[in-house]
Amino acid sequence: MTQNTPLYEGKAKVIFEGPEDGTLIQHFKDDATAFNAQKKDVISGKGILNNYISEHIMMAVGELGIPNHFISRISDREQLIRKLEIIPVEVVVRNVAAGSICPRLGLEEGSMLNNTLVEFCLKDDSLGDPIIAPEHIFTFGWATPEELEIIVEDTLRINDFLTGLFLGIGVRLIDFKLEFGRYDTEDGIEIMLADEISPDNCRLWDAETNEKMDKDRFRRDLGGLVEAYQEIARRLGVKVPQIDP
Ligand code: ADP
Ligand code: UDP
Repeated sequence: MTQNTPLYEGKAKVIFEGPEDGTLIQHFKDDATAFNAQKKDVISGKGILNNYISEHIMMAVGELGIPNHFISRISDREQLIRKLEIIPVEVVVRNVAAGSICPRLGLEEGSMLNNTLVEFCLKDDSLGDPIIAPEHIFTFGWATPEELEIIVEDTLRINDFLTGLFLGIGVRLIDFKLEFGRYDTEDGIEIMLADEISPDNCRLWDAETNEKMDKDRFRRDLGGLVEAYQEIARRLGVKVPQIDP
């Protein structure tokens, strides 16, 4: 457990200074929030599961050649990561209609989309993370057109890869959220995938039963969140320490 003073405490993670310049430590908490943090709880073991699952997915994404912030897992709840300048845009990828797009566009949950949809939201809790267009991103200077092109290209490759990875273990990847940032290298700025990829920011449905295996178990008071995340880890072949409820 890191003893440093936190640089930032978010809803699900705490960020500490890393051991070397340009690094951070990302600590996964058990806190669960939904509906812009109006609903809150602590779910024992969730942080450990997300740490291990995100490590597995970030490493696989790295092997695809998509640069990301992950360096190593240093404990059950902590990862060493590269310190990025986070681009304040949440990139949401949707393969199947679920969550906020359903009431927004009058869609039925579970209906297939004709093609993969990439949406952007401003990362600002005080404004409720409003949906924005690429033009807003350019107008307000959150990212340049060149940066957004890289982000969308990486995002679509990650979606193709993860869709296959999950289908191979009997899970449908319905939607997910990514964050990106800028990493200062000797050769200039590199766009990197940041944050986490876990059942906290993906919708994952069992391919046979459509049972929810993600944070919707908390959002909708379905119970069994830890068991669902453990099942995702088990199917991915990720070994997670025993979690005592
Ligand atoms: P939130 O800030 O939305 O409550 P978290 O609790 O997950 O979210 O906090 C993690 C914070 O760390 C997020 O604000 C995220 O943008 C930020 N972050 C993730 N990866 C990096 C990184 N590599 N460098 C700097 N900040 C990061
Ligand atoms: N998501 C997320 N963080 C957010 C908003 C969304 O991780 O702040 C993820 C969410 O888990 C889902 C996808 O992005 O996998 C689409 O979420 P949606 O817009 O439907 O929002 P929500 O249902 O969370 O209101």
